[in-house]
Formats: sequence, structure tokens, C-alpha cells
Amino acid sequence: MRKTIIAGNWKMNHTGKETRETITALVQGLTGAEQADIVIAPVFPYLPMAVELTKGTAVHVAAQNMHWLDNGAYTGEVSPAMLKDIGVSHVIIGHSERREYNNETDETVNLKVKSALAHGLTPILCCGETLAQREGGIMQSWIEGQIENALKDIAAADITKVVIAYEPIWAIGTGKTATAAQAEEVCDIIRKKLAALYDDTAAQDVSILYGGSVKGKNAAELTACPDIDGGLVGGASLKAGDFLEIIHKAV
Ligand code: 13P
Repeated sequence: MRKTIIAGNWKMNHTGKETRETITALVQGLTGAEQADIVIAPVFPYLPMAVELTKGTAVHVAAQNMHWLDNGAYTGEVSPAMLKDIGVSHVIIGHSERREYNNETDETVNLKVKSALAHGLTPILCCGETLAQREGGIMQSWIEGQIENALKDIAAADITKVVIAYEPIWAIGTGKTATAAQAEEVCDIIRKKLAALYDDTAAQDVSILYGGSVKGKNAAELTACPDIDGGLVGGASLKAGDFLEIIHKAV
């Protein structure tokens, strides 16, 4: 059975004080009856604080990136072993902003997914097409290629430990949400690709999230789609009230 997951990617936002206040309000706003796994991804310096504040709650803590090696001469990088050491459970890998601004490639994404799995971290693997690719009619082949490359050499036994997030680049931070039909179409393409790479049983057990201008007002319609198992939320996860509304509308 795959899980519903609502994850908040805070990107480069929130001071320490804001991080503390947001997490405190989020935890207080949970009823205990939520049907979803809740994940938040603050910036690196506040991850230990986030782990501390969410201890014993239903909220899991994710990093927004990591290196694939355990240590070494890689200035400015953080390793999976270090994330594990401080109690982080999830890691976002291959977000389109990192692919665009930080030279993230399918090859590094693949190394990171494999390393996250080897360290017992849940990778939230991002994929998504640009508007030009969509309008040029290559959306499907692009998404299938990203998935195949990211999952290269990942064993069948591990695939259900991977969470996939479909984030159309044209819908991120633009207020332009994919329609539920557009989002479902691509999440279905991803699930069929997983079935082809592995098998149908495994594909049915992988949680696939939609991300891109998810808000309280569209969360229910998106998560009601058969192949959408939750959301990766940017802007609307920064305020506890907005994020709680999304969590409570997810089905
Ligand atoms: P927005 O929800 O702000 O569009 O961001 C989506 C996203 O990139 C989450 O990773």
C-alpha cells in the first residue's frame, strides 16, 4: 500500500526564529488523525532544530539536497551520513532549481538516489518538464528519460522506498497549477514507466507526488486523482496555517 505524503519544501526561506515558530504551529495544528505522512524540508542550518521540535510527532524532516559521498574534499557539501547522524529521514533530490542553478544532472541525481537508499534516507526524487518541452510534444519522452536515468541500477527491492515528485517547471512558483487532469496524466506516465522498469506490483507501491503551486484550494482535487499520492509544496508550506489546510484536504 502506498502512502499519502504531503511534503513542504521551504527552499531558501525562514530564519531560525521563523523556522521554530512555523514548526511549533504546525505540530500544534495536527489533530493526530491525519491520513498522510507529513514532511518538512528547512535549510541545512536548522535541520537539527527541526528534528528536535518534531520528535514524537507525525512530522518527518527532510534535507533539500545532499552529496552522494560520506566525506571528503567537497567544500560546501553535506553528506548523507551527516544527515542520518542528525536524525533527518528524507532528502529531496534533483529539484529543478538545483538542476538549473547547481549543475545537477541525471547522473548526479542517480548517484544521490542510490546513496540515500544505502544510508536509509527516503529520497524524494524530482522530475518535470519545461513549458517548451510540453509545447514541443516531448513531455512524455523527457519524463520517462529522467525517471529511467535517475533509477539506473536501483534494485527492485529498493524501488518502493523511493518517492517520486512530478513538478512541471512551468508550474513552480508561478501560481500556474497544472490541472488535475494534466498532473494525473504525467503521474500515470511515471507509474507505467515504473511498471516497465520493474513490475506492476512495485509500481503500485511507489508514492508519486505532484508539486507546482499546490494550495489549499486545489489540494483536494489533485490528491483525489488515482495516481497522485500527495504533494510537494513550496510557497504554501511556509505558513503553518496554509500547510495545515493542504494536509487536511489531502485524500
Ligand atoms: P511552489 O509550490 O511554490 O510552486 O513550489 C513547488 C516546488 O518547487 C516544491 O518543491
